[in-house]
Amino acid sequence: MSGPLARLSIWKRGRVSGNPDIALLSGGRMARGCELCFPGLKAVIFVTGLCDDGCFYCPVSRDRLGHDVFYVNEERVNSVEEAVAEVQRQGAQGASLTGGDPLVRFDRSLRLVEALKEAFSSSFHIHLYTSGRYATPSLDKAGLDEIRFHPTRPGLEERARLAKTLTSMKVGFEIPIAPGLEGWARKLILYADRVGLDFVNLNEMEIVDPNARSLLLRGYRVDPARRFAVKGSLEAAVKVLEWASREVSVPVHFCPASFKDRVQTWNRLRRTAELDQAWYEDRVGALVRWGILRGPGGRQVYSPPDAKLLGSLAREYGWEAAIVEAHPTRYRRPVVSESSLGEERRVG
Ligand code: SF4
Repeated sequence: MSGPLARLSIWKRGRVSGNPDIALLSGGRMARGCELCFPGLKAVIFVTGLCDDGCFYCPVSRDRLGHDVFYVNEERVNSVEEAVAEVQRQGAQGASLTGGDPLVRFDRSLRLVEALKEAFSSSFHIHLYTSGRYATPSLDKAGLDEIRFHPTRPGLEERARLAKTLTSMKVGFEIPIAPGLEGWARKLILYADRVGLDFVNLNEMEIVDPNARSLLLRGYRVDPARRFAVKGSLEAAVKVLEWASREVSVPVHFCPASFKDRVQTWNRLRRTAELDQAWYEDRVGALVRWGILRGPGGRQVYSPPDAKLLGSLAREYGWEAAIVEAHPTRYRRPVVSESSLGEERRVG
């Protein structure tokens, strides 16, 4: 095994197994949408930042939340067609539709599901995350494979039961977990088990800039040992998973906060870097690296990142030379480092 998972081991406690830094699972299999996240095969499509809820733990950045913006991973897109092209550039084999609440822009979500299925194939797996209040069976007809309900208000769990009864989609709940939310999690797990839902996902509660103030005011603290996580969230999840493993048969899955960063994002960027590498670029882990020669009047020429070659060309033409590393986004932003020949400087 290579990459960020290399040094992680698997542990087992009764029917709960996994690793607290990758995933913990009680009973059965995790949702298909989660399985595809591991190797970075899913594109994360942020359909809109609009949302009719105001959860105190909302981790969505404030330049997206409340704004009708549309992204595929880090790339801003302006249409369903552009979103499909971006998914293709990344070589994704599935997509996760999120927001905000993607169903506040119901038509956009529906057209996206149809367009992705048409552009790739019926086996291209799509899951969608929503409060559920705007869900209808037409999502199933459009080809949506899996729907995850985050019932932000009492009564919304009923929408999940209807989805399970009226459609062929896989249906589950997905909520954050932290100290004080164990009761909510148990209630939803019992309901999911009773009405025959396919899974319940518990996300380690993230503490990030957009929600830090709200969480700190409620007494939550950062776990110094777990990047981006609320202290006690893992322990709350383990308690709920151990209980679920004795009481219910519905699979319950815990997704750690750092997993997105360490595994999902790294794998996805590495894969995109492989697929979208220009002739003059080298891949370095999840980054791309290339050489650049800058001449008068803003002229630029790209070349392989060969310091010797760049140095001699720079001397011959009197141009500046540098080696640049960046994320493999469409416009190669953000730049992670730029090294002028002989002198290294960080640029952001
Ligand atoms: S439903 Fe999701 S996007 Fe909306 S406020 Fe709650 S956590 Fe944020």
